[in-house]
Amino acid sequence: MKIIMLGAPGAGKGTQAKMIAAKYGIPHVSTGDIFRANIKNGTELGKEAKKYMDQGLLVPDELTVKILLDRVAQADCANGYVLDGFPRTIPQAEVLDKALAELGDAIDIAIDVDVPDENIVKRMSGRRACLNCGATYHVEHIPPRKEGICDNCGQALVLRDDDKPETVLNRLAVYHSQTQPLIDYYTAKGILKTVDGTVDMEEVFAAIVELLENK
Ligand code: ADP
Ligand code: AMP
Repeated sequence: MKIIMLGAPGAGKGTQAKMIAAKYGIPHVSTGDIFRANIKNGTELGKEAKKYMDQGLLVPDELTVKILLDRVAQADCANGYVLDGFPRTIPQAEVLDKALAELGDAIDIAIDVDVPDENIVKRMSGRRACLNCGATYHVEHIPPRKEGICDNCGQALVLRDDDKPETVLNRLAVYHSQTQPLIDYYTAKGILKTVDGTVDMEEVFAAIVELLENK
């Protein structure tokens, strides 16, 4: 099963993608996580990506598409994957569709996690991320067992540089202009499904499982 998670930054794509990956035994592929790992390791790619990420802008398609196509060509993706944060533009979606079509393959379902803008800034300012293992928490809604420490790997949690309120507003504007058109794109292909992302994460997940199992 090849799944795309759509939704505004902070809608809960990553939270749900991790749960889907765990339940169905497929990899969770997040371009944001790949960029952050590169920033942490001081690679050239990380330095380039950071210039855009810190301003809430998208990393250029040329860089992003190559990274994603390399990642999904790896052996662990052979039985499917859940994409989180990719595609974010129509050209990215077109390149992915073309690459899959060349293999006689296609995306099965695009799930839009719908959360209104009013909820987003609050969600993002409360998000705490582990830059070591990629886990995410929320100080109120999904707190770690021990404040400031990752449940999975024991590393310190951080407020992402791009989760500061002024950057979040830019990211939302970028989402509406460049990413939201993908909703029409996947609707036209007949594979778009929407879930209410404002309810608690277990309820969102139950709605997603229902969609996946009734496909
Ligand atoms: P995205 O991957 O779409 O940017 P995340 O999955 O990182 O979003 O979620 C953004 C923030 O909201 C995180 O702090 C996360 O813990 C929290 N969160 C995710 N799902 C829910 C939910 N259903 N209710 C409340 N908070 C949530
Ligand atoms: P995320 O972790 O998905 O919220 O992504 C964090 C940031 O990484 C985004 O604001 C972009 O700057 C960059 N990024 C992640 N995925 C993409 C993508 N598919 N296209 C362009 N930029 C991306």
